[in-house]
Amino acid sequence: MTATRIDGKAFAEKVREEVAVGVKALKASHGVTPGLAVVLVGEDPASQVYVRNKVRQTEACGMQSFHHVLDTTTSRDSLLSIIESLNADPEVHGILVQLPLPDHLDSRDVIEAIDPAKDVDGFHTSNVGELWTGGEPFIPCTPIGCLRLLKSVEPNIAGKNAVVIGRSNIVGRPMAALLLNESATVTIAHSKTKDLPAVCRQADILVAAVGRPQMVKADWIKPGAVVLDVGINRIETEDGKGKLVGDVDFDDASTVASAITPVPGGPGPMTIACLLANTLEAAKRSVS
Ligand code: NDP
Repeated sequence: MTATRIDGKAFAEKVREEVAVGVKALKASHGVTPGLAVVLVGEDPASQVYVRNKVRQTEACGMQSFHHVLDTTTSRDSLLSIIESLNADPEVHGILVQLPLPDHLDSRDVIEAIDPAKDVDGFHTSNVGELWTGGEPFIPCTPIGCLRLLKSVEPNIAGKNAVVIGRSNIVGRPMAALLLNESATVTIAHSKTKDLPAVCRQADILVAAVGRPQMVKADWIKPGAVVLDVGINRIETEDGKGKLVGDVDFDDASTVASAITPVPGGPGPMTIACLLANTLEAAKRSVS
């Protein structure tokens, strides 16, 4: 079997186009331009790249972009007072604090300070609670992006066995909640799971969100399963340039799976696109 390659880049472009249309419509109907504020504390190079991409894509789809770049030594009080002013700013509909934060700042503390109605990352406990209890939350962007990619190849999720490897608050847990809400039978695996390959072989839908390069091999995968690879890992190459790989051995897994996301070009591009979609939704809710 040679798996269908699920093209996250193409899907993300489609989502961005839909968002751009929605932004225009909201401006025309209510005179409101959705605005996304991104707060970056410190100089983590990967975070700087993410923030640059977010700002560029926010502006490209017609939204307002506000970004606050703060010194690594920024105090808790200063950061919370910026969040407070963004909460009160009517031009800001979405607030995102880029993680990870420097060690002296507690990310939970900071996330809880964001108005849940502007929490477009979906990390506030109020949105997390709504996700697990069937409300209408903002859903974290990477898992909702994965779900959209999954539905493009597998519209019938109900009753399927889904295994999510990883239980982080930003990927594994919300992914499991989304699959459960679609009536899959969900197993969450993690570093203490016994015989992980055997657990994975039960999966009709396998999501890997671990951070271990090419850990999932073909013999972990049930023939015909759909595999979503969230991992982004840089590995060394002989030419010294290095390259990005996922948590799944793509070439090996492609011989067994029915469909699989590549890295790069899988869930990664969908993450920012879904952030823009959440920001548009926040702006729509602000006028309804
Ligand atoms: P975390 O480090 O927060 O979580 C990793 C999870 O993997 C933990 O639950 C951990 O278990 C589990 N784990 C670690 N080692 C093993 C193992 N050997 N076997 C089974 N489970 C294991 O990572 P994130 O969830 O933040 O990210 C996961 C990956 O996804 C990373 O590569 C990250 O770069 C990528 N990512 C990609 C995004 C995108 O836009 N595509 C967005 C966010 C993340 P335990 O809880 O027991 O420690």
